[in-house]
Amino acid sequence: MAGLDDLYQELILDHYRRPRHRGTLAHPAIIVDQHNPLCGDELHVTVCLDGDRITEIAHTGEGCSISQASASMMSDAIVGHTTGEALELIEHFRQVMHREVQADEDQLGDAVALEGVNKYPVRIKCALLSWMALKDGLLTRMVDQQESR
Ligand code: ZN
Repeated sequence: MAGLDDLYQELILDHYRRPRHRGTLAHPAIIVDQHNPLCGDELHVTVCLDGDRITEIAHTGEGCSISQASASMMSDAIVGHTTGEALELIEHFRQVMHREVQADEDQLGDAVALEGVNKYPVRIKCALLSWMALKDGLLTRMVDQQESR
């Protein structure tokens, strides 16, 4: 995409061509499907938990390079964190995409490369798709747990 820093553009293409955490987990605690009708992006995200900790995330789907690279970067950034930390990270990324805060590279890892996408309103939803999928999955699970108490 013209205008994005070359290094960041390389990083996005690298995650698109060699996605990390690609696939479907066998016994996930969370399963989410998310669709971006504006662009046609589709994502299927599965998450494994150990107690409150996210031990693995896997994603499959198809769509533009931004949506698919973002799913790879999101998985990298989130795995190993607790569900509470994950929700904070997702909120930080949402704020970055809405130009409310500067990206924190320590927290976001390679996903910091997506910051420049926030200059392209039609692509913001592509970048956010996987993050919002995970948020939906985490929040739905929390509601389920409260109801079963
Ligand atoms: Zn897209």
